[in-house]
Amino acid sequence: MPGFELFGDKERKEVQDVMDSGVLMRYGFDAMRNGHWKTKELETGLAEKMQSKHAHAVSSGTAALTVALASAGVGAGEEVIMPTFTFVASFESILALGAVPILVDIDDTLTLKPEAVEKAITSKTKVVMPVHMCGSMANLDALKAICAKHGLLLLEDACQAIGGTYNGKPLGSIGDLGCFSFDYVKTITCGEGGAVITNNEGYYENAHKYSDHGHDHIGNNRGAEDHPILGYNFRISEMNAAVGVAQLARLDEFIAIQKRNYTILREALSHIPEVVFRTVPDGGEENYSFLSFFMPTEELAQTAHQELIEAGVDGCFYWYDNNWHYYKKWEHLTQMKSLGKLPKDVIESLPDYGKTDFSESDKWMSRNISCLIKLGWSEKEVAERAKKMVTAIKSSI
Ligand SMILES: *Cc1c(COP(=O)(O)O)cnc(C)c1O
Repeated sequence: MPGFELFGDKERKEVQDVMDSGVLMRYGFDAMRNGHWKTKELETGLAEKMQSKHAHAVSSGTAALTVALASAGVGAGEEVIMPTFTFVASFESILALGAVPILVDIDDTLTLKPEAVEKAITSKTKVVMPVHMCGSMANLDALKAICAKHGLLLLEDACQAIGGTYNGKPLGSIGDLGCFSFDYVKTITCGEGGAVITNNEGYYENAHKYSDHGHDHIGNNRGAEDHPILGYNFRISEMNAAVGVAQLARLDEFIAIQKRNYTILREALSHIPEVVFRTVPDGGEENYSFLSFFMPTEELAQTAHQELIEAGVDGCFYWYDNNWHYYKKWEHLTQMKSLGKLPKDVIESLPDYGKTDFSESDKWMSRNISCLIKLGWSEKEVAERAKKMVTAIKSSI
């Protein structure tokens, strides 16, 4: 990733179709559109690729999470369990619905720790939201069993893991709902965009209505459509969807390139005894968008990260002190810096994250380094990179 590295003729052709018709709207304008329905094409293709009955495209991954939660009827005061290591979109989407984000520890998979999830369940819990960070997944069998036992929904945030699989099934298709992002740096990108997938007819019906002002999408006269529910505008444009159509068709190609590059780097690093790779749960296969590993201590991780930067190895992240991805820097959440007044339910139920013990998450995150795998590298470049990485890490030990 990111998919923009390999933009080419396919993307240009799809965009040109939209420019030629002038129809940027996913619904209506039937007579003008020269038969092009890019968003519908993206949805059909994604549903098929993800082995899901339904896919609904929206304006972003954050929108996808919000729409997915809303479509399952999540509302004020209900609790959604999410990991301490994720992207801010996780709690943004939960808060947008007046629901309460319950942060829970991660383990050496860098995703939700099942035992911590079970401990966090209350009578208000409605959803468990694992986030498949950096291309690899949570222990989904364990989480599914917990959800079944407690009557909870499983919503997979697969925004960073499209193309990965678990027990042979595409990530995103294993929970009750799955979400993808096609933002500007994701494995497949269309600038801004996202999608919800589900096998549940009811959730799908809710999702397409909710993301388009509650329109029922019956008949072909938008002005005469009913609006059975309240909704918002989370629509994707035809221009973005057009790029998505081209990129989705190239997903397998992208994953194969990522896998090749990842494998070369991993092989090189595997000879350093101090480097321990993140755990991928049994039955899981990553999408190879990142190579993530642990150093023996926080200090060694910091020095290794510094050495990598100094050696000119770009794209290696020390997420522990990253602004966007780890709870430690989420002051806007922990201090509830909202523009307007928050719903009473949220104010009353939100745990005091300034005081919560996330030492288990800290233990893993403080030792973790994750390196981005690019699509544009030649094999020679990856080999050179591997050498530089080994030298940098060894010199830090
Ligand atoms: C990118 C991302 C999102 C949100 O996607 P946007 O399209 O940028 O809104 C959500 N969750 C994770 C894990 C992400 O990486």
